[in-house]
Amino acid sequence: MRAAVLREFNAPFSIEEVTFLDAAPGRVLVRTGASPFCSTDVTNWRGELGKVPPAILGHASMGVVEDVGAGVEGIRVGQRVVVPGTPECGVCFFCSRGRPDQCSELFDRPGVSATSDGYLQVATGADGAAIKAAGLVGGYAEMMNVHATQVFPIDSDLPDEHIAMLGCGVTTGFGAVVNAARVAPGDTVAVVGLGHVGLWAVQAARLAGASTIIGIDPIASRRELAGQLGATHVLDPGVAARAVVLSLTGGHGADHVIEAAGPPEAVPEAFGYSRRAGTVVLMGVKKAGSTVTLSQAAVSVEGRTIIGVQNGNARMRRDLPLLVSLLESGRLVAEPIVTTRYPLEGMDAALAASRDHTDVCGLIVPALSGRGE
Ligand SMILES: [Zn+2]
Ligand SMILES: [Zn+2]
Repeated sequence: MRAAVLREFNAPFSIEEVTFLDAAPGRVLVRTGASPFCSTDVTNWRGELGKVPPAILGHASMGVVEDVGAGVEGIRVGQRVVVPGTPECGVCFFCSRGRPDQCSELFDRPGVSATSDGYLQVATGADGAAIKAAGLVGGYAEMMNVHATQVFPIDSDLPDEHIAMLGCGVTTGFGAVVNAARVAPGDTVAVVGLGHVGLWAVQAARLAGASTIIGIDPIASRRELAGQLGATHVLDPGVAARAVVLSLTGGHGADHVIEAAGPPEAVPEAFGYSRRAGTVVLMGVKKAGSTVTLSQAAVSVEGRTIIGVQNGNARMRRDLPLLVSLLESGRLVAEPIVTTRYPLEGMDAALAASRDHTDVCGLIVPALSGRGE
């Protein structure tokens, strides 16, 4: 099996033959269909999120079950499955409290130290190297060896690329609006950052019945896409955007501001678009250790609610069937957000296009290898 292995930070991916470990008890082998190239992996590639090579990146994916380890229930060989970036063990402290977005399988891994990121070996390189799936998934390879708590069977004929987006972008952007902000009919919403998460947030705000949906991004093509997907107004943050947002919201600011941009500077910017006693949903993280400074009064005296969101505060078993039905009925659309499909050999190009913001969402499709796309 071939994999795009991160052997060294800030260097081209190594496309190499590896041998995947057999499905151990509790684990599942999944033949990869498609994996979104996420901007988080640009940060991983730079070594800014604590991953340790050699590792396979790609923290969300989908595919077909190839083999199932002992003790795995409810997952069969041949099933189509979503492999999201966030496991849902169902029994840890956080899952028990209805917050699987914080599942201990992901956030409380043992073995994390200065020289280890705590991820398990999933494959062996031709040179004998123990290769891990950084982020637990390892979607940039022809096969994935994942824990059963991260495998969700799906009954749908949607294209692989669209299903793959359910593992990170869709759940995050949709969940920010529906699960976190709880946007209601008639509300006003501003979305800061119109990358693939922001564009899902725009669509979710439209479905939730928001009266005014303001998309804010410096890239004109992304603003245009947001307009097609439901934004009622689009703005370049460079041109007095705050004054325009205030004028579009009766002078108050938006009821809900969804930050889907990433850099720390986007947080005070998002606050500037929000009204007193409004909601600000924060999703970005530039790198481990990034900090943000906010006006104290804007939070306390002015009564704003800050909601942090990881994977859209989703509960996969509840939310996946809903999202699939919305995609199948065309009320959510994925294809305009898919910019480019890449074979494994296209990993470096996918990285450059994500880093340079020329792709909204590139997808790695291992089966394209050898077909000369
Ligand atoms: Zn992602
Ligand atoms: Zn859990």
